[in-house]
Amino acid sequence: MLSYQHLYHAGNLADLHKHAALATALAYLAQKDKPLTYLETHAGRALYDLSAPEAARTGEAAAARALRESIPQGHPYARALAQTRAAHGPDAYPGSPLIAAQTLRPTDRLHLAELHPVEHASLLRAMAPWPAATVHHRDGIAMALSLSPPTPRRGLCLIDPSYEVKDDYRTLPAFVAQIHRKWNVGVIMLWYPLLTGDPQREMAESLSTTHPAALCHEVRFPPARDGHRMTGSGLFVLNPPWGLAEDLARLFALYATL
Ligand code: SAM
Repeated sequence: MLSYQHLYHAGNLADLHKHAALATALAYLAQKDKPLTYLETHAGRALYDLSAPEAARTGEAAAARALRESIPQGHPYARALAQTRAAHGPDAYPGSPLIAAQTLRPTDRLHLAELHPVEHASLLRAMAPWPAATVHHRDGIAMALSLSPPTPRRGLCLIDPSYEVKDDYRTLPAFVAQIHRKWNVGVIMLWYPLLTGDPQREMAESLSTTHPAALCHEVRFPPARDGHRMTGSGLFVLNPPWGLAEDLARLFALYATL
C-alpha cells in the first residue's frame, strides 16, 4: 500500500516552499526561551542524497537548485542546508525532521512518525545523533492525537501526507479540527499539492472556512515534466507565529520569477 518514496522528490520546488516555511516558523517559536514540542505525522527518512539515481530520474531537485541557492545565507532554512552539507557532503539534503532538529534546541522535544519500514529504518539512522528526537513506527495521525496536548505544550505539528490515498482530502480537515481541539495553542501546519484538476480545492476551502484566522499560503510553479500534475504547493497554518505571513510573502516572491 505504501508506495510513495520521497527520495524521488526531495529538494523539489514544493519541498523548498514547505521546508523554508517550516524553518521560519520554528525559528520564530524558538525565539522564546520556553521549550517546545515538534510533532510530525509523516516524517520520511530525514536525510536525502540529491545525487542518487532516484533524484536524477525525476530531475525535480535539480530544477529547484537555483531558487534554493538564492535563499539568503542567514535564513534558518539556508542554515539547515549548510549544516546538513557540512555533516554529510555537498549533495545531502535535509528532510523536515532534520530541519526541525537543527532549528530547535536541546531542551525541545521531537516526535516523528513514519510507517514505511525502509523509510522508518533510514529515519532512525538519520536521527540517531539527535537525542531530543523520538522516532515512532506507527500511523502519524494516531501518534499526534495520542500525544496531544504534548509536553512541553508550546510547539508545532507538521502534517505532510503523500496524498496517495484520495480519501486524505476528505479526512484531513476533520483531523486538523480534532488536533486543534486537543492542542489549542499548537501551531498546525498542513502541506498540500496544487494539482491539475484541483482535487485539493475543496479541502483547502473547507479548512479556510472552518478556521478563518488561519494562514493559507500557496505558490505556483511550472510542472517538473510534461504531463506532471503538480503545478504548485500549498500550506495551511493554524495559529501561525506572528510575522510568518509577511516572511513567506517576501521569501516566496521568488517563485514569480519561474
Ligand atoms: N515530511 C517529509 C519531508 O518533508 O522531508 C516527507 C514525507 S513524505 C511526503 C510522506 C511520508 O509519509 C512517506 O515517507 C510515507 O512512507 C509516510 N507515510 C504514509 N502514510 C503514513 C502514515 N499513516 N503514518 C506515518 N507515515 C506515513
